[in-house]
Amino acid sequence: MARNVGVTMTDRVVAGLIEDHKVSGELLQYPAVSYDSAEALPDEMDVLIEMPAAALCEMICDQIVLLAPAGTRIDAVGVAMPGIIRNGIIEDSPNLPQLKGAHVAEALRTGLAARNLETTVAVLNDADAAAAGLAATRGQMDRLVRVWTIGNGIGFGRYPYTEGPWEGGHTVVTLDPKENYCGCGGRGHLEGIMGHRAMRLRFLDLEPDEIFAQARKGDKRCADFVERWHLGLAAATATQIHLEGPGRFYFTGRDIQRLDLSRLKEHLYQMVKMSPLQSYTLEILPEDRTIAVIGAAAAAEFVGKC
Ligand SMILES: [Zn+2]
Repeated sequence: MARNVGVTMTDRVVAGLIEDHKVSGELLQYPAVSYDSAEALPDEMDVLIEMPAAALCEMICDQIVLLAPAGTRIDAVGVAMPGIIRNGIIEDSPNLPQLKGAHVAEALRTGLAARNLETTVAVLNDADAAAAGLAATRGQMDRLVRVWTIGNGIGFGRYPYTEGPWEGGHTVVTLDPKENYCGCGGRGHLEGIMGHRAMRLRFLDLEPDEIFAQARKGDKRCADFVERWHLGLAAATATQIHLEGPGRFYFTGRDIQRLDLSRLKEHLYQMVKMSPLQSYTLEILPEDRTIAVIGAAAAAEFVGKC
């Protein structure tokens, strides 16, 4: 039986001991706050943003060792992080800029060895971990699973793992030259519409939650934006369908309650008209951090071990 540790780092770090695609014991998290409390999240992200890469790696090692006390056999550790990750190195991560260029797998392996834990370490993209977790927990490891994660940034995950950046959140969805709110600096990007930071830059007087609340009350400026938010996600999904075919798409993440699936379906129907491409299915899932932790642990077995 495989005993792996899965770790995800998004707005906080969550770690768990995973045996055969199931969580064994409790999930740990840093900062250590109530698992269900959603209110303080934007501030928690700041805690991680302010930590240098080396300190982040040390903190993650501490969490892993808490799950695997001295003498525990761990077959593999999978750590999921936002950004473009290749060969254990974070090549870019617009929402956690201090990680750019960090040799995370090597730092974790060294840190774990210093704590007397010798194991393989794989580092992968956080949205890919969510896709792997969905495949593993739903018996879909023989199928193409794609997932959009809607939170601080907009993640696009894909299972099975395939080499490539797969930065779906930076899909160009508009030619409007004024659309330049994406944290990466690129013009017309999906995350420049849907991302947390981008929404704050666009509405200097409103927080993202207030924009959606005002739209429900009929405020035209906010309602127009919420329409654009759904159109952007539909456009990026349509692009995926035109490139890789129809199939199953999941939508999840911290801010998933903002998504109106029937509205998304209507837009997508207008955007995908070739009949062989219309057999897609769309499903909303409430955010469940255990899925990505399980996925990170599962992926540790097959992502290029380094
Ligand atoms: Zn971008």
